[in-house]
Amino acid sequence: FANPSVEECFLPNLDKSPILLRSNENPYGPSPLARTAMAKSVNSSNRYGWNLASELITAIAKKNNVQDNNILLGAGSTEILDLVLQYSALNKGNFIMAETTYNYWTAPSEKLGIKKITVPLTEDKKHDLTAMLQAINADTKMIYICNPNNPTGTICDREKLVSFIKEATKKVIVFIDEAYIDFTKEESLSNLVSENKNLIITKTFSKMYGMAGARVGYAVAHSATIEELNGLKSSPDSSVSVVSASGALASLQDENFVKQVYADNEAVKKYTIEKLTQLNLTCIPSHSNFVYFSLNNYQKDYFKQLENHNIQGTKIYEENGKWTRITIGTMKEMQQFIEAIN
Ligand code: PLP
Repeated sequence: FANPSVEECFLPNLDKSPILLRSNENPYGPSPLARTAMAKSVNSSNRYGWNLASELITAIAKKNNVQDNNILLGAGSTEILDLVLQYSALNKGNFIMAETTYNYWTAPSEKLGIKKITVPLTEDKKHDLTAMLQAINADTKMIYICNPNNPTGTICDREKLVSFIKEATKKVIVFIDEAYIDFTKEESLSNLVSENKNLIITKTFSKMYGMAGARVGYAVAHSATIEELNGLKSSPDSSVSVVSASGALASLQDENFVKQVYADNEAVKKYTIEKLTQLNLTCIPSHSNFVYFSLNNYQKDYFKQLENHNIQGTKIYEENGKWTRITIGTMKEMQQFIEAIN
């Protein structure tokens, strides 16, 4: 197979297909190398992928500067989020997360018998680490920090987050979701896990690597903690298909693709924020592939405008200020988005 250029990887913009700016997917991917690897690996799909899974684990461990036994693979990071919730709920109690953050995965919490406690974000839509630390009580089992945060795109100050982790992990599990870390210059916190049994980090191939539909994600944690999480599954390392694992392995080698997506995302995000600001809509500075902005000053029916132009955005997150989020698509898609709401 010849590797297509990133330009050639754009999804076809068929007349009737909606512009998807809803789920923070990568509009360019999968990477050219991943496409080739996935197409070839279809032929090996008659076999279970255990060997490939361990090869992928080794490659992921290397990327994160940890050992193989610090990694747990999942069918998307959602599988790991589910496992962490189940693990935290083993002895009931409560867990803490921000209001507003990524929270779909906590839907089963009531059924699992663990209570959710929410802590408001600061005025500038960042995690309030001091308040989150203060919210810990005798029944708290886990604190979730999405960094960068979905939907606000904010990031924690690294020094403050490291000291927060040091303090909080004396009592509870700190769970850092780094689904969007590749869209920042910020370093992952994965180098802290070998010293700390109470720190769990998740990452995904769904966003920067453009493999949301292929479903590959992973946890980075202390080997003892990985063992505990694995103990909640009947068959470790069997969640990721041969095709998806092949794509993930190839993606890790496609540094050009990552550089290109990073640069394109930055440029298109800058354009989007400029245009939204010109429309008098307040934007939160974003460290991700989406922008959180306020519809307070918007005079038209935002969702109707999107619908009329066949664009899918997402809901209002906070009524107070009417904050919503838009995913950064291609430049052409964002030009159409701006035109639609103008
Ligand atoms: N974490 C965050 C913060 C997300 O926004 C998402 C998806 O949008 C996920 C995790 C789950 O992603 P996946 O299961 O595709 O890895």
